[in-house]
Amino acid sequence: MRFSKPKRPITLMEICGTHTMAIAKSGIKNVLPKEVKLISGPGCPVCVTPSSAIDMVLELSKDPHLLICSYGDLFRIPGSQSETLRARPNVRLCLSPMDAIQIAQNNPDKIILFIGVGFETTAPGSAVLIQEARRSQLKNFYFYSLLKRTQPAICALLEKEKTQIDGFLCPGHVAVIIGEKGFEFLPCRYHRPGVISGFEPEDILVSIEVLIQMINQEDPKILNTYDRLVQKEGNTIAQAQIEDVFEVEDSLWRGLGTLPDSGYRLKEKYQDFDARQHFHLPGLENKEPENCQCAAILCGEKAPSQCPLFQTVCTPQDPVGPCMVSSEGACAAAYTYEE
Ligand code: SF4
Repeated sequence: MRFSKPKRPITLMEICGTHTMAIAKSGIKNVLPKEVKLISGPGCPVCVTPSSAIDMVLELSKDPHLLICSYGDLFRIPGSQSETLRARPNVRLCLSPMDAIQIAQNNPDKIILFIGVGFETTAPGSAVLIQEARRSQLKNFYFYSLLKRTQPAICALLEKEKTQIDGFLCPGHVAVIIGEKGFEFLPCRYHRPGVISGFEPEDILVSIEVLIQMINQEDPKILNTYDRLVQKEGNTIAQAQIEDVFEVEDSLWRGLGTLPDSGYRLKEKYQDFDARQHFHLPGLENKEPENCQCAAILCGEKAPSQCPLFQTVCTPQDPVGPCMVSSEGACAAAYTYEE
């Protein structure tokens, strides 16, 4: 495909781990005009989860009466002392949040702790899980919310002093839930264009071309090249599920610090299932592995190859930071496909 010629050097950011992997795998960076730089942002949900959250779950997992349930990548993320959850005998991998209901019902003598990670994409599934726990009258089930909202993270990046992001490849999966309108703040508040994109190489190439055109014309808008799945208003049923169960709260992000209204916590009416209340969990703090550059990578300030540990000390077989662990991490993508 032939791209329009950019009128100036431009930097585009993708904010979705699936885009990061698809871009690396298909070699898209190699065919971009030389004026276009494509960088990764905070789009990998387990990567933005602070180490102190892993530390807290590691501590809880010492209780043999507890079964810790979550998605696979979370169990491979090292805590601040490089320890991971996967070696613990009482962790259970869930392919769907509803697996946790089955585990709770099959293990009435255990306490089930589900760790909810992800963005708006996974929040509806977590909401349904909690509604189902209520319907099933589970007494041995708790939910620890590490769920996050994308908009505050993008705003934080754009409000940094030396921001050099000219446009965004917006995450298709998140947009399925929040709709085109969920990204309208980009042109309205920050005068930046965004294109909601699917995940095939063709989708991404077309979306980048649309971004270049908007930047050339200085006409920032939100455009949607993934309209086979993304509607203007998003999935209003999923939004209602989130609204029923969760309310927004300030949340700590690896790399970005504590961002206002960037997380989801359980509403008062579902407090019976809130792990923070039940286990008296303290707030999280910033404690990242020494020399790991994941924080800078998640902000788009560094590429994986600029980390001194990349490919030497830190590999997918022996990862130091989450960006090398996660199947959606920028370092894992670069290691596997680019370097
Ligand atoms: Fe962190 Fe490893 Fe990536 Fe370096 S290469 S930033 S240590 S994950």
